[in-house]
Amino acid sequence: MYGTKVLQYSDNDKSRMAQERVEELKQRISGYLEAVKSIPTGFKLEKEYQDRKKQILDYFGATDEDWQDWHWQMRNRVSDVNTLRQLLPLTDEEVDHIDSVSKKFRWAVSPYYLSLMEPGNPKCPVRMQGIPSIRELQDSWGKEDPMAEEFTSPAPCITRRYADRLIINVTNQCAMFCRHCQRRRNIGEVDKPAPLEEIKAAIEYIRKSPEVRDVLITGGDPLTLSDKWLDWILTELDNIEHVEIKRIGSRTPVTMPQRITPELCAMLEKHHPLYLNTHFNHPKEVTRESLRATGLLARAGIQLGNQAVLLKGINNDPHVMKKLNHELLKIHVRPYYIFHAKPVKGTTHFMPTVQEGLEIMENLRGYTSGLAIPWYIINAPGGAGKTPLLPQYLISMGKDYVMIRTWEGKVFRCVNGEL
Ligand code: SF4
Repeated sequence: MYGTKVLQYSDNDKSRMAQERVEELKQRISGYLEAVKSIPTGFKLEKEYQDRKKQILDYFGATDEDWQDWHWQMRNRVSDVNTLRQLLPLTDEEVDHIDSVSKKFRWAVSPYYLSLMEPGNPKCPVRMQGIPSIRELQDSWGKEDPMAEEFTSPAPCITRRYADRLIINVTNQCAMFCRHCQRRRNIGEVDKPAPLEEIKAAIEYIRKSPEVRDVLITGGDPLTLSDKWLDWILTELDNIEHVEIKRIGSRTPVTMPQRITPELCAMLEKHHPLYLNTHFNHPKEVTRESLRATGLLARAGIQLGNQAVLLKGINNDPHVMKKLNHELLKIHVRPYYIFHAKPVKGTTHFMPTVQEGLEIMENLRGYTSGLAIPWYIINAPGGAGKTPLLPQYLISMGKDYVMIRTWEGKVFRCVNGEL
């Protein structure tokens, strides 16, 4: 039927119709094309970032070589308000607030991540993720552990919520303590890598669980551990026959890309198949330095994914989230998940609405490449698992038909032969 119809049009008609369709399609993304002009990105801001890096290096009396050294970045994490106010303009009220919050919740920011913050703008999405806000103390409904992780730990360092995969938590250290962190209860007062005995017990548990084929190494941030220590853990997992793949969860490509060195990549390359999921939340975080890091990982054959968290005031905007996903693909990172924020104590001022999440997804499917479309996920309470949410595209279905809505809102009733 369809073929017969097409034959009724002349070549000129077909060409004119194709042009009209192109105009219609361009119209569909005209709002985004206008909005994106004012969305800041790490690449656009490179000059400002370099200037701030220089100020920070001058303050520490350090060199460019120091900056590139991740140990220097870790040692010089800014975690007291007096140092911070030398590097980022703060009002007296903000100083008081940071002081009050730090009595309850630990904070620290790497010099690199600090260099991405816009001075004088408390709504800078990078700053909101790194600098404490008084709203952390005004949270009346968040829970310490909404995922009930403490009830899903059958062995030391292990979190297990699914049948064929599990998490091994190897440290509570991070290059930065993100203000929205879902594991902030584990951050504690001091950096604490898991003791060898506990890691050995966790590995033993995995060895005795033949159904576990996928192990996620996380924390804290596992890439704050030494190459040698990580090499040992990965080798132990390689030696377990039923462990088919390993994954690392690390925010260092965002918060301390200097951690990704050729030496680290040469070590990781020995442990394929290996995947790394990171956590960019805003296009401002996608910088030339993060590209250097993700480029090294990609050249070592590590598949990279991004797990963004949907956060009010940071990325709960369809245009910002689409731009983030486009920027990620430019640096070899495949958008993988958008997690709805969890109601963790001290972070509920970041909670978006589910409606906002669905609107973001509605503005991705069809409007951009499938590669730039992650899954939008709500974690069910009590560790009951990841639950994907989608706008509704299936209107109804019967034994021999489906009624669907396309990304443009066109409705079709398709019977068997048309599917
Ligand atoms: S890097 Fe990850 S684990 Fe560490 S504070 Fe940030 S979100 Fe939490």
